[in-house]
Amino acid sequence: MRVIVFLGAPGSGKGTQAKQLSTASALSYVHLSTGDILRDAIRREEPLGRTANAYMSKGNLVPDEVMLDLINSVLSRVESTSPSATILMDGFPRTIPQATALDLGGKTRVGMAVFFSVPESVLIARLTGRRICKVCGASFHIEFLPPKHNCVCDKCGGALFQREDDSRDVVINRLRVFGSQNEPLLEHYRLSNRLVTIDADRPVEQIHFDIVNKLR
Ligand code: AMP
Repeated sequence: MRVIVFLGAPGSGKGTQAKQLSTASALSYVHLSTGDILRDAIRREEPLGRTANAYMSKGNLVPDEVMLDLINSVLSRVESTSPSATILMDGFPRTIPQATALDLGGKTRVGMAVFFSVPESVLIARLTGRRICKVCGASFHIEFLPPKHNCVCDKCGGALFQREDDSRDVVINRLRVFGSQNEPLLEHYRLSNRLVTIDADRPVEQIHFDIVNKLR
């Protein structure tokens, strides 16, 4: 199973791009976001959600052993349902043990890692202004992509909310955690000639165009 890893800080736009690529019908990409899977487990009040929430609400990483169990079970599910799909991995790996496990893991093969490069000041503005629809999950921004009516989703009329971990203090911690893990991860993929860096401080369409070209 082919895997493409999207690396980048929270707010760097990797989820937006992965979502867009996976919904383009001509391409057979599966978007796999570990953050979304964990948030879903929290909503469903599963044991995994309870464990993860203690870390996520503070902006810290969920321990590697929890994440490795999770990723192994998700990958074997995708393997059985869509064996020929290419997986766009968004939010995993975040540490060297996770990257190593992914490289050694069964039938998966990480062909490329795409790093979304964005200055920190832009990340803070993007994350703290982000608002999400409670009903359909659509993402807005109070300044860059405001909804037509205050606090209401343009797409489905649902109420918009701010993710707990998008509050300013937690964002600062998430970026600090990211900063401490990122360089070794980039080095891991750079040394094996799998790293591609893109300037992700540009309009969504331009980044999409760049990525499609790199993935060819
Ligand atoms: P994200 O939506 O990717 O920004 O992830 C939100 C939160 O989920 C992170 O701040 C972590 O607490 C947790 N998380 C997601 N993916 C991982 C991972 N691969 N390793 C550890 N924690 C993770």
